[in-house]
Amino acid sequence: MKSPELLAPAGTFENAEAAFIHGADAVYIGIGQLNLRAHSPNFTIEDIPELLNLARTNNKKVYAALNLMPDQSKIAAIKDVLNQLKDKNCAPDAFIVSDPGVLELCKSILPNVELHLSTQTGTFNLISLDFWKRQGVIRAVLPREFTLDQIREACESAIMETEIFIHGAMCVSISGRCLLGAYLGERHPNRGDCPQPCRYKYRLTHVKENGDSGEWFEAEESDDGVYLLNSKDLCTIEILPQIILTGVNSLKIEGRNKSVHYVASVVRIYRAAIDSCIKDPHNYKVLPEWYKELDALDHRTYTTGFYNCEKVIQDVFTSKAAVKSRIIGTVKAILPGGLPVIDVKNSFSVNEPLEIIPVQQYALPYAIVFNKITDLSGNPSDRAPSSRLIIGHSSCSLRIGDMIRKEV
Ligand code: SF4
Repeated sequence: MKSPELLAPAGTFENAEAAFIHGADAVYIGIGQLNLRAHSPNFTIEDIPELLNLARTNNKKVYAALNLMPDQSKIAAIKDVLNQLKDKNCAPDAFIVSDPGVLELCKSILPNVELHLSTQTGTFNLISLDFWKRQGVIRAVLPREFTLDQIREACESAIMETEIFIHGAMCVSISGRCLLGAYLGERHPNRGDCPQPCRYKYRLTHVKENGDSGEWFEAEESDDGVYLLNSKDLCTIEILPQIILTGVNSLKIEGRNKSVHYVASVVRIYRAAIDSCIKDPHNYKVLPEWYKELDALDHRTYTTGFYNCEKVIQDVFTSKAAVKSRIIGTVKAILPGGLPVIDVKNSFSVNEPLEIIPVQQYALPYAIVFNKITDLSGNPSDRAPSSRLIIGHSSCSLRIGDMIRKEV
């Protein structure tokens, strides 16, 4: 069994750093608004050299999503981004594209950068894969709607490298074919502006001839209503050996809008799971701790999606992601003597029960309390305020990169 690449989302530099530290082989990012997460923080051209430097120092890769479906008004901006990357000599390892025009621009301005085909193109057959190969694409992100047999078929065809999603939110529609946001709110999903109307609570009505709505009918499954279209979230930890046996080259985690806590936790669990699977695929077991960790993150009900031909992937009872814990800080430095300097994101108190997500690979989270908190000058305080650096005193030895979280 060959170990596939573990590819993580990075909406921010901090998330990219956490993804690399916790075991991702590569990250995918957006530059400006030219991708399908126009409202995530995204990277500027000025951020790219530092990110590439971090990646190359650690033998990792960076892919940039340029997978919007642009109209002509966006072409100048895309050209400008590509020319700036060229002029500053800071091109990523690959562009993820879906539009043939964007693909042509990438080829003409930065011909040596690899091209990956976004799942948005909905490439469902081998003839299409072969077509894209002739256009210069070397990897395809296969549809989330594929079964494991279809993934295996694409891998065995050896037309090009393959990549699939293994964890995160899913669309209820076929990727790249949904117009719900554009229809209901003039916000176009294929230009990175999906307001996720598939997560809304819906009621039924008949429409009168003049366009007015008639009587409203509740379609109740619970007191909270019914979410007819809302997809569950993908989680493939259970079927990882079957996935890897298809021969897929890259396993991708969804979530460029997600927190650093989410990215670090999902990456570290899948890193451990992939490594365990490669070491001994016949005795692969999902550890209860992995489930516990994945359950602690904000998520909707999990599903293995279409890979195992699951029939019902909607959760009609709620569209809200359950959040059970939240990150409150990261260890940024260790002082002589071993005390950690903590970058506090959310305030916490002396003696409050907290948990460490260790940076050390395969190590499990463990409980901690800080019995003393001081500022950098040594002045004690009962509370660590957010957006400050503090020194935490405890009985544990922490490491740079360890994350601290608390239950909510
Ligand atoms: S409305 Fe839902 S199904 Fe459609 S693109 Fe947005 S998230 Fe996907």
